[in-house]
Amino acid sequence: MGKIILTGDRPTGRLHLGHYVGSLKRRVELQNSGAFDKIYIMIADAQALTDNADNPEKVRQHILEVALDYLSCGIDPAQSVILIQSQIPELCELSFYYMNLVTVSRLQRNPTVKTEIKMRGFEGSIPVGFFTYPVSQAADITAFNATTVPAGEDQEPMIEQTREIVRRFNNIYGETLVEPEILLPDNAACLRLPGTDGKAKMSKSLGNCIYLSDSAEEVSQRVKGMFTDPDHLRVSDPGKVEGNTVFTYLDAFCRPEHFAAFLPDYANLEELKTHYRRGGLGDMKVKRFLDAILQEELAPIRARRHEYEKDIPAVYDMLKRGSETAREAAAATLDRVRHAMRIDYFADEQLINAQAQAYNRKQS
Ligand code: ATP
Ligand code: MG
Repeated sequence: MGKIILTGDRPTGRLHLGHYVGSLKRRVELQNSGAFDKIYIMIADAQALTDNADNPEKVRQHILEVALDYLSCGIDPAQSVILIQSQIPELCELSFYYMNLVTVSRLQRNPTVKTEIKMRGFEGSIPVGFFTYPVSQAADITAFNATTVPAGEDQEPMIEQTREIVRRFNNIYGETLVEPEILLPDNAACLRLPGTDGKAKMSKSLGNCIYLSDSAEEVSQRVKGMFTDPDHLRVSDPGKVEGNTVFTYLDAFCRPEHFAAFLPDYANLEELKTHYRRGGLGDMKVKRFLDAILQEELAPIRARRHEYEKDIPAVYDMLKRGSETAREAAAATLDRVRHAMRIDYFADEQLINAQAQAYNRKQS
């Protein structure tokens, strides 16, 4: 079936730098590499509803925002299929069958879900849909026969859960589903980009984000307010680089040529870090450097977004076509799944004939 990518995002907000370094940038590179036979990028609205059931308008409004973020980063609908999850009902049916292959205690052990339950204050009142979203994610991935899922570190337990479901399914019903692999960022700082407040993860739900669609001024403001080393009070004080968000972002975004362009007093990031550790290097100078790098990265994305914003109906049209294409692929998988599970009764002449013969014999 070839090499196939499935990846996506929840339409719970505009996309931010965490999405960009954790997955989106990689998707564009993979798309342009030509090494994949098919690329599916999913706007996971049904999953977003599992913890936003009372706020469908938020999900509805952000579908377009996420689509615009994709396009502005260089996802090309001629090469990648962009789809809206809820428009593919086959995914629900797959989830329903996969649920039989997973235990409650297995889901309870999922560390990402555990953290998210805490973060959302769901302890004691977890919506069933939210609790089982790793199973629905297995449906998303397997429906498209994905071999590769480019995602951030928080998705590792989901892919592991999918692999277990695939193995169990194939074991019981015969070789049917494809076992996927996660493709993590190779840069450690990008596995889980922290928020501007220094919290463990930049996340739409935590409001600690720099969005891809932020204006130049907004980006500068957010960089200025970023968490650094709380003990680095005076410029002359020695500073810590570990856990210092500004340096984590530099690890994620800085390339050697940025020094020549924006900070020629230093040859590379190591030199800058050494100076910061020794003392005598102010936070503002480092932040100005980071700001220049981010502005350079985000300016072309912002400019492309403005172009796509001029024709919103065309974006919806693209989403509709993508969802239709995706639905055909998912329906083909569902057919194979039904066949493997022996629930394709009407297509099974052998079953009908055998039972007919048995009853005929009884009658005569
Ligand atoms: P929500 O708070 O609604 O869950 P989110 O900001 O966590 O939103 P998702 O839509 O859940 O975003 O994640 C989409 C993709 O982006 C996933 O592959 C995820 O691993 C990746 N991702 C999200 N946040 C980060 C981050 N801070 N660092 C690296 N990757 C991230
Ligand atoms: Mg998330």
